[in-house]
Amino acid sequence: MGKTMKAAVYEKPGKITIKDVPVPEINDSEVLIKVTYTGICGTDWSIYTGKYSADKLPLIAGHEFSGTIAEIGKEAIGLSIGDRVTADINMGCGHCFYCRKGETLLCPEFSQLGIHIDGAFAEYVKVPWKQVHIIPEAMDMLEAAFIEPTSCVIHSMKALDMKAGSSIAILGSGLGSLHAAAAKQRGAAPIIVIGRNKERLELAKKLGADIVISTEEYPNPVARVKELTNGRGADYVIESVGTSETYEQAFEMLRPGGTLAAFGITGDDDFMRINPAKLVLSEKKITSSCAGVGTDWSDAITLISHGRIDPKPLFSKIMPLDKMEEALNLLQKDRSLVKIFISPVVGSEVVDL
Ligand SMILES: [Zn+2]
Ligand SMILES: [Zn+2]
Repeated sequence: MGKTMKAAVYEKPGKITIKDVPVPEINDSEVLIKVTYTGICGTDWSIYTGKYSADKLPLIAGHEFSGTIAEIGKEAIGLSIGDRVTADINMGCGHCFYCRKGETLLCPEFSQLGIHIDGAFAEYVKVPWKQVHIIPEAMDMLEAAFIEPTSCVIHSMKALDMKAGSSIAILGSGLGSLHAAAAKQRGAAPIIVIGRNKERLELAKKLGADIVISTEEYPNPVARVKELTNGRGADYVIESVGTSETYEQAFEMLRPGGTLAAFGITGDDDFMRINPAKLVLSEKKITSSCAGVGTDWSDAITLISHGRIDPKPLFSKIMPLDKMEEALNLLQKDRSLVKIFISPVVGSEVVDL
C-alpha cells in the first residue's frame, strides 16, 4: 500500500465525503504538488449539485489552487522540490487540429483538472510538469490560488480586445469585479458594474468600477446604462452572470457597433433571443471565452504580482477541508462572500480575511 492523504471526494450529487485516498502516483512527465489553498468556485457548486460533470463522479474537485512541489518526474525541467507553484488546469491531447493551432480549449479530448479529472480539494494533486507556473516572491499563496479565475478574465479581455477610452458595462459582481479591474488596466472609462448584492457592489468599486448599478434599485439596468452613456449604450459589455435574462439585457445595453463578451455559463436549456435583423442592422459583435489557458496564466501572475490587479478585497475566508460542504452552502446563502479558500489541513481554524 502506498501513502494516503485526506481528500474531499464528491461521491454523488449532494454528497461529499472526507476520506483517506491514495496519494497520486506521478509518471516521468508529472509533478506532485502539496496543496496549500484551493479556492471554491461556482463550478464546484455546479458539480456538487449535479449540474456539471455528473458523469465524472466520484471526483476530487478543486481547480483554483496553490502549493509546493513535493515530487518531480524525470522529464521535468526547471522545477525544484519546495517551489511555490500553481498550475494551468487545461489539458488537450496535444496532437489534434486545435491543439496544433494552440487552441487547447477546443480540443475534442479537452479536460480540466478538478472538473473532469481529480483536482485539489486534497492534500496532494498531480499535474503535468509543463502546466506548472512558479509563483514569484511578491505573491502570497492565497493570490496564487486565485490565478485560475484571473486567467479566465484575462482570456476574456483579450478576446474582447477593448480600445482605451471606451465605456464598458459588466453584468455580475462576483468575477464581474475582476473584469472591472482588468478593464481598468485596458483604459476603459467609465466602468459600470451591475449586480444585486450591495456588499459585492462595494467590492466592485474597490477593484475598479466607476459606477455601480444595483438591480434592486434598477430592476431593468438597460435604461440606466443608456442614461450613463449619452443614450447610446456601452461600447463593450461583459455578461458574467449566466442567465438568459442577463444575456438579453447585455445585448440591449450594448451600443450599435459595440462588442459583447459572453462569459457567464447558463444551463443547457437556456437560450438568448436575438432578433437577427437587429443584429444585422446594429452591427453588434459577440466574442466568447471559456477559460484561461497558456499565456493567460503567466499574464495573470504578472498583473497580480506587480499590483496591477489586487484581488484581495474578494477574499472572504479560509476554511478547512472537513468543512467543504459547509463552505459550499455558505457561499450560496451569504452572497456578500465571494471567495472561500479551503485548507487541506483537516481541523484547521476558520480564518476571516
Ligand atoms: Zn473556477
Ligand atoms: Zn487536442
